[in-house]
Amino acid sequence: SAKRHGRNHSQRFRPALDVQDSPQLGLVNELRNALATGTQLELHYQGQHRLVDGALVGREALLRWHHPRDGMISPADFIPIAERHGLMASLGNWVIDEALAQQGRWRQLGMPDVPVWINVSALQMFQGELESALAAGLARHQVPASQLGLEITESVLLDERAGDISPRLEALRQLGHPVAIDDFGTGYSSLGYLKKLPLDKLKLDRAFIKALPDDLADAAIVNAVLSMADGLGLEVIAEGVETEAQRDFLIAAGCTLVQGFLYARPESAERLERSWQEEALVSGVGGAGRLAAE
Ligand code: C2E
Ligand code: MG
Ligand code: MG
Ligand code: MG
Repeated sequence: SAKRHGRNHSQRFRPALDVQDSPQLGLVNELRNALATGTQLELHYQGQHRLVDGALVGREALLRWHHPRDGMISPADFIPIAERHGLMASLGNWVIDEALAQQGRWRQLGMPDVPVWINVSALQMFQGELESALAAGLARHQVPASQLGLEITESVLLDERAGDISPRLEALRQLGHPVAIDDFGTGYSSLGYLKKLPLDKLKLDRAFIKALPDDLADAAIVNAVLSMADGLGLEVIAEGVETEAQRDFLIAAGCTLVQGFLYARPESAERLERSWQEEALVSGVGGAGRLAAE
């Protein structure tokens, strides 16, 4: 209502139009086109690092949409639209194939062979196409399943539509995929499921890291999660680490893995290849010569 949105907003709304859907439908069609041509979509990759020495242990693939008119649109904005309008299966399959193609290329170039982790959306878990898309991509790009990790948000694991998700996760791990629970701590859930679900990693949501080390409540939560995960044999990766003070707190608390702007920002594959090549040339390590000769 105009009252709820306030005076400033009410004048923007034209009553004859369905203000909820019409701007979005344009975006839906544009996203459909982007998927068909493939040219506006790109995966960026953000490093995951070992806290003690900063060593690279993995990379998260993060979807980017370069909209010709609106510029870069955040996945947080267009993924819900894709889910609502039946495009998520194709989008998810595009991510799987693209991440595996990239992983295959990096392996050929001799770049550090660490797993790439993709985000798996709710609908991919509720529908049946995931396994066949994974199998097809792994075969096409000759990448072992151990090099493609799956990040699944906590809310999805608890969604009733997914039914009992344990056998499904177990099957994915049997195939060799590492599985992580993403955005851990934001699901307002009972913790009992952690005991039952077959998982490798737990990604502690940025919400708990942001105010460290000053916020005593967040510090207590992080400490509790770390000790619980330790008891359950789960590795914890802290998301969104931006400051040295946060890093120092996490090291002291016994956290081992980290992902955040302090270590690396998400970058295009092209930029990552270029900086790897430059580093390798400087340090004289093999592999880059092959690339330079191409
Ligand atoms: P996520 O999976 O939790 O990904 C981490 C998000 O945190 C990314 O935002 C990343 O850029 C951001 N981030 C990493 N380090 C820092 C930091 O130090 N500070 C701050 N402020 N942010 C940091 P991004 O790329 O905008 O992605 C947002 C969300 O969109 C992701 O959250 C994920 O839920 C979803 N998403 C992204 N790509 C995909 C995809 O291919 N498929 C699906 N289903 N979802 C995706
Ligand atoms: Mg993620
Ligand atoms: Mg996350
Ligand atoms: Mg998150």
